[in-house]
Amino acid sequence: MDDFIYRGPGAQGGGSANRTGGEELFCEGVPLSKIAREVGTPVYIYSYHTLTRHFRVFDEAFDGIPHVICFAMKANSNLAVVRSFAALGGGADVVSGGELFRALRAGVMPSRIVYAGVGKTEREIEAALKAGILMFNIESQEELLAIDKVAGRLGVRAPIALRVNPDVDAKTHPYISTGLKKNKFGVSIEQAMDEYERAEGLPNVEVVGIHQHIGSQLTEISPFVDSLKKTAELVGRLKSRGFGIKYIDVGGGLGIRYLNEKPPLPSELARAIRPVLEDLGCTLVFEPGRVLVGNAGCLVTKVLYRKSTQEKNFVIVDAGMNDLVRPTLYQAYHEIKQVITTDAPEFSADVVGPICETGDFLAKDRALRVPQPGEFLAVMSAGAYGFTMSSNYNSRPRVAEVMVDGDRYYIIRRREDYEDLVSGEEIPEFLGEKAAHDA
Ligand SMILES: *Cc1c(COP(=O)(O)O)cnc(C)c1O
Repeated sequence: MDDFIYRGPGAQGGGSANRTGGEELFCEGVPLSKIAREVGTPVYIYSYHTLTRHFRVFDEAFDGIPHVICFAMKANSNLAVVRSFAALGGGADVVSGGELFRALRAGVMPSRIVYAGVGKTEREIEAALKAGILMFNIESQEELLAIDKVAGRLGVRAPIALRVNPDVDAKTHPYISTGLKKNKFGVSIEQAMDEYERAEGLPNVEVVGIHQHIGSQLTEISPFVDSLKKTAELVGRLKSRGFGIKYIDVGGGLGIRYLNEKPPLPSELARAIRPVLEDLGCTLVFEPGRVLVGNAGCLVTKVLYRKSTQEKNFVIVDAGMNDLVRPTLYQAYHEIKQVITTDAPEFSADVVGPICETGDFLAKDRALRVPQPGEFLAVMSAGAYGFTMSSNYNSRPRVAEVMVDGDRYYIIRRREDYEDLVSGEEIPEFLGEKAAHDA
């Protein structure tokens, strides 16, 4: 996270809250404390330079092989983030009509959009066909029939790839492992040939590719290689039977460093999979999500209170599980940094939010400098599956998102207000105009 670094006192940009002489955490050229004070907390902050550097590193790793990078939007679907990649030639991997809408709104070329997900509705299929996407990644036979039907009604042919489930262990958290036989995704390699033949027999679909995606936060290369070998073998058989496989969609899943993981670099992934895929003469599609955005963002929160029981110390902050659910949903680790360093004594504490749930924590038993109320903390590596998984639980407005470019920052999503919370809700007339006791 080279774009999130401490700078010594005296380096503060205008508006910093630093009066203590501690080191100050910057995003590019802007002190996080400045954004926290001006935009309020909690706030997600993304570095434009990190986003684009990550995209370019991934892209360059596959230099010389025809490829398309379809950013997995569920990791971070903010229009400004998606536009940053689209401007570099990136496409989008969407998993809903809403993500398709966002991708188009952000300016992603439809011919660079792939659409996955086990539950595509007719309405979503229709929107994608009208937009003219690159391909649908098909997860089941019934879905294939539905797509054929909608395409027939619109008088078009739907480009499709079959998502195969290569039955390999991605060696990641079970909730984000998708390539095992027991998972709901894709069709098994054994059944795939039959499914391809069925697809070929349908009048309104055109087989153009094959897709796999085995899981997320992968920190080893071998599951990629093992699964792609199986997929490549199937591609060979498909081609020899005359199927027009133009695209091999490798999926996403490359892990990032949250604590001390040592995930492969994109260049290492490229070196390992090139020999498996190179000779098949296909365009490769990649669907990286986390690896592009995870370490390009953090969540800045403010310390509200401290509290100690006989068992534990708690630091209560203004961000909760509704703002960042990964710690409680996946037992995920996020580093927590002081936005302005102090030399306060260390203690071990749970960092918890204001939500009325025991599962509402950002960190457990974490060694921290004892913070003062009002102090800002940065929850690092929060650019992926952070804001996109946030909710209004406990009627908390969703937080603001900010993008930093050099020494400027931009609010790329305003903080929701209370009116946003109730927009769309209605009290039916029969309930009366006022509460009964007022009448
Ligand atoms: C979630 C997902 C991705 C992205 O996964 P990352 O681990 O964030 O890279 C890519 N493709 C599909 C089909 C997905 O569901």
